[in-house]
Amino acid sequence: MSISTLRNKTLLASGFHAPVPGEIDVLTDVLIAVDGEGAIRSVLKPAEEGYEAAKQAAIASGTLERLPEGSYLLPGFVDCHVHAPQYPQLGGALDVPLEVWLQTYTFPLEARYADLAFAKRAYSLLVEDLIANGTTTALYFATVHQDATRALVDICLEKGQRALIGKVAMDNAESCPDYYRDVSVDAALEGTRALIDYVRMHPENGEGRVKPVVTPRFIPSCTDAALEGLGAIARECGCHVQTHCSESDWEHGYVLSRHGVTDTESLDRFGLLGRHTMLAHSNLLTASDMEKIRVREAAVAHCPLSNAYFAGAVFPLRAALEKGLHVGLGTDISGGPSASMLENCRAAVTVSRMLETGVDPAAGATDRAGGQPARIDFRHAFHVATAGGAKALDLPVGQFSPGYRFDAIVIDTRAKAGSIRLWGEFDSGEGILQKIVFTASKANITTVWVDGDVAGRE
Ligand SMILES: [Zn+2]
Repeated sequence: MSISTLRNKTLLASGFHAPVPGEIDVLTDVLIAVDGEGAIRSVLKPAEEGYEAAKQAAIASGTLERLPEGSYLLPGFVDCHVHAPQYPQLGGALDVPLEVWLQTYTFPLEARYADLAFAKRAYSLLVEDLIANGTTTALYFATVHQDATRALVDICLEKGQRALIGKVAMDNAESCPDYYRDVSVDAALEGTRALIDYVRMHPENGEGRVKPVVTPRFIPSCTDAALEGLGAIARECGCHVQTHCSESDWEHGYVLSRHGVTDTESLDRFGLLGRHTMLAHSNLLTASDMEKIRVREAAVAHCPLSNAYFAGAVFPLRAALEKGLHVGLGTDISGGPSASMLENCRAAVTVSRMLETGVDPAAGATDRAGGQPARIDFRHAFHVATAGGAKALDLPVGQFSPGYRFDAIVIDTRAKAGSIRLWGEFDSGEGILQKIVFTASKANITTVWVDGDVAGRE
């Protein structure tokens, strides 16, 4: 693929996007004009007035680019839950429950990021790999370390990935090891403020492509004083907030016994539940938790692969979408063993069907089912992986509409090393997207743009 920047150019392409949950908008030979800042100026379909004139004008000025036959344009993926420091253990440490996983594997690994050289090496590889997988926006938990978290900010800016990054706050000596935690409430709060300032004043971040995030790891790892202070910072700075919410029985039960209420209720009391809050997992929400999240316009990051390993329950995605909650999709690296949003789309579909039908063969066909309609299909999965996640984060990406940023990927269905095979006489329309969602892989992703510029390895 020889197309480089699309700024001040017009792209003639076929592809797909899903601004509305459950619906695919099939784009055939559309003209997408991108402005000098990387925003979409216009999207014209062949039947629309001005299409031919716009095409001829772009040809005459030498600014028309075309996707080759067999290549499809998709919005870039929005990964709503990534633990950047856990990338070295992706695909490992999946054999123990959450609380053991944290103490045995994860905290020791995250503590390694006190070493800046190690952090730079690991973060560079992660950001490059996520871009290669088509992830144009990522919401990152970093570690408690200031220098390493700043390095992650620098790396995302340098490689051109849109990112929201939080220095993890965890100061509770009762649940965090001495070798890996904020030494005091002040350290947690000052470290959070310092990162916000660093991101906002970064000379390379004039366009605000990287944003700071207030990041209490989860309630068990924070003292009440830290949660209160972080809520105040979130209010004062208008930042995004990310944390884990009602993920597993152990964690959910811990918050109930410490605060006497659910995670959602408790986060709300600390001022941590608002329009820019992303709650990872949220499997064990009560009906009133869901209602509170909806009213506060907060969002859930659904992490279907991770749920299978650490939650013991599956987030009811369909019910949440029907209630009108903002929901995005997350890989939860490394609680989920894949960095690919496509694989997580597949997992979202698979687990939703298991949630609906039940899985215990001994239960018998009628007793096995959970009782509630829970299944989603590729349309919903693709939506939450793109436009849904973007809306959840309140970012103008994830769809091809005027005013949105041009963050997009190209799927080459003819890539030799790829895993999708199309059959001319059988495949057409949104059926092609279904095949992309279920069978495409990294080798099929040939170009990744963020703000109209090519992102990734130099
Ligand atoms: Zn997580």
